[in-house]
Amino acid sequence: MLNDPIPPHVDPRKLADRGVTINGSLLLADLERLCDPLSDDVGTVQAKFDFERDEQHVVVIHSELDVEVKMVCQRCLELVTLPIHSECTYAVVKEGANTQSLPKGYDVLELGEDPLDLQALIEEELLLALPIVPAHHPEECQQPAGADEPESSKDEVSRSNPFSVLAQLKRDPNV
Ligand SMILES: [Zn+2]
Repeated sequence: MLNDPIPPHVDPRKLADRGVTINGSLLLADLERLCDPLSDDVGTVQAKFDFERDEQHVVVIHSELDVEVKMVCQRCLELVTLPIHSECTYAVVKEGANTQSLPKGYDVLELGEDPLDLQALIEEELLLALPIVPAHHPEECQQPAGADEPESSKDEVSRSNPFSVLAQLKRDPNV
């Protein structure tokens, strides 16, 4: 099941009416714009899309994407393999529709009568999920000695004293 190809175009409204889940994969090499910032285009994207209508009858698509990509670590300049996981909830609306009443947390997807380009959606979502500064885990990184990270020493200072908070509460006559 997981190796079914992802259909390039779908009608999300019909799929939502039927409560369809699409599970499949596509090659990283087919996503040209996504491969641009990557070190190579070898890999497979696992994608899952749940189509449904919410209580307001809005067409909702919940996406789950997983892929491993290779990028250049910005600390040691060696290759780093990064697992990318992305989840989004899209609300499909007509072009120019009023989106004020949509629940927060939805990504608005304007769609006219044309079918939805699922491949473009995957590419767009993964581009946003890529790290801005790719890097190894500190303990796996071949960074040159001496280039260590700044320690977080400000924590202690900024932590508020629990007793002073309590005192403030007691002083407030409305409590
Ligand atoms: Zn590194």
